Amino acid sequence: MALKSKLASGLVPYVPGEQPKGEKVIKLNTNENPYPPSPKAIAALRDFRADRLRLYPDPTADSLRAAIAAVEGVKIENVFVGNGSDEVLSFAFAAFFDGNGEPVLFPDVTYSFYKVFCSLYNINYEEVPLLDDFTVNVADYMNKKTCGIVLANPNAPTAIALENKSIQELIEAYPNNVLIADEAYADFSSQPSLTPLTEKYNNLLVVKTFSKSRSLAGGRLGYAIGDKSLIDTLRAVKDCFNSYTVNSMTAAVAKAAIEDAEYFASCTRKIIETREKARAALSELGFAITKSDANFLFAKPPKTSGREMQAALRARGIIVRRFDLPRISDYLRITVGTDDDMNELTAACRQILGGK
Ligand code: PMP
Repeated sequence: MALKSKLASGLVPYVPGEQPKGEKVIKLNTNENPYPPSPKAIAALRDFRADRLRLYPDPTADSLRAAIAAVEGVKIENVFVGNGSDEVLSFAFAAFFDGNGEPVLFPDVTYSFYKVFCSLYNINYEEVPLLDDFTVNVADYMNKKTCGIVLANPNAPTAIALENKSIQELIEAYPNNVLIADEAYADFSSQPSLTPLTEKYNNLLVVKTFSKSRSLAGGRLGYAIGDKSLIDTLRAVKDCFNSYTVNSMTAAVAKAAIEDAEYFASCTRKIIETREKARAALSELGFAITKSDANFLFAKPPKTSGREMQAALRARGIIVRRFDLPRISDYLRITVGTDDDMNELTAACRQILGGK
C-alpha cells in the first residue's frame, strides 16, 4: 500500500521555470524584473530589526494592506495579501469554485497553475479555446453552465491583453459567479487595471503580484482586491491553512516598494521600451510575435522548431521558457530583460538562424 492519501496520489504539480544555481546565464525564463527592487525597499530590509523575528507577524498585515489600499484607491477591507499571487489564487480557487460541480472556465492556453489548483481541489474545468491568433473570444464564454471564470489579463504565456470592456461583459453575464482577473502582468499593459470595477461588481476579484513590476519575486507577495465579502472569504480559507502567510520582513519591504511610485513608473517604462525594441529586432529576424502587453514576448522562431531554438539559446547561456503543449510548443516565452540582455538574445538568435 502506498504511503499516500488519495489526494496526494492524484496530484499533478506545477513545474516552475529553471532557477540556475551559480552558473552565469542570461535568465529570461520566469518573467522576473531585470532591475533591483526600489532603493526604499532595499533600505526597509536593511533597517528591519531582526529582533522582531522573535514575534509572529501581524496575521492580517494591516500596515502593508493599508499601503496597498492607498495606492489602489480602495479600502483596507478590500485588500487580501498572501505569499505570492500563486498562493492568493490557490485560496481563491478554494474559496469561490465548487469541487465536483459545474466547471470553472479558462482559456485552453493560459497560466498552467489554474489546472493544478483544479486537480488539487477536485474542481471541474472547461478550457475554452483561444482563437487562432491567441485572442479570447468573449462570446465563447457566454451561456455556459459554470461555477466561475478565470482570465489572466494580459494572458500568459501569450502576452495578449483582452479589453476590459469584454471582461466587464462576462462579469455582468454571471453575477452569481466570481470572475478572477489575474493581473500579474497588468502593470506593463496599455490597458488600465480592472481594480476600479471591484467597487461596482461584488463578483470581481483582481489578483496582482509584487513579483514582476515591483522586482520582489523572492519576497513572495501577492494580493487580491475585491468586495469585502470576497476578501473575508479569502481570509477564512487562509486561516484554515496558516495564519501567517506573509512574513514580517516581506511585509516591511513590500510596503516600502509600493509606496515608491516614481521608481515603479521608471522601471516599468524602461521594460516597456526594451520590450518594443526587442520585439522589432526579433520580428526582423522572422519571428512571429504576438502583441505584448506584458514583460515578456511570445515568439515563434522561423526555420527551426521552438525546441531546437530553446536548446541552441541554452547552449549560449540564455534561458527562455517553452511549454510543450498543443498549439504553442514552437513558441518561446522570453522575459524582457535589460537592453543588453535583449541585444545578446537577438545576436544569439541571428547567429543560430544564420546557420540554417
Ligand atoms: N499569475 C500568472 C499569470 C503568472 O505568470 C505568475 C508567475 N508565474 C503568477 C500568477 C504568480 O506569481 P507570484 O506567485 O510570483 O506572485
